[in-house]
Amino acid sequence: MSNASTPCPEDHPLMLAWNSHKQTDEYKNSKHWALAIQPMIQVGDPDADRKRYQLMPVDQREQHIEGSLWAVFCAGYNAAQAARTQREVCPSCGKHDVDRLHRAATMALPEAHYWFCNDCHRQWGVE
Ligand SMILES: [Zn+2]
Repeated sequence: MSNASTPCPEDHPLMLAWNSHKQTDEYKNSKHWALAIQPMIQVGDPDADRKRYQLMPVDQREQHIEGSLWAVFCAGYNAAQAARTQREVCPSCGKHDVDRLHRAATMALPEAHYWFCNDCHRQWGVE
């Protein structure tokens, strides 16, 4: 399988998250539907190459699909990491002494993350 990305060590947090994600129904469902697509190719179809690719043997398609799902998973993981490490500033006083807090779900409110300023005690990011 040709994969442009460098191999990820098995104990890397991204790889651990990926292996855990692969056990979920969401992953199995994504893969199932990606494999289920069997397009018709008509003469002169400008999209024929892409469709022919989808008609390759199922084990090959499975490898390519897994590669695509992996790439999307990496993008999501990296975006989440970037958002988490971004320095947050209090919108009221402009101080950096802020904490990202977690609120557990209750009967009335869903689970949420929000910010709390240790200086002026403002909370934000709460739905
Ligand atoms: Zn503040």
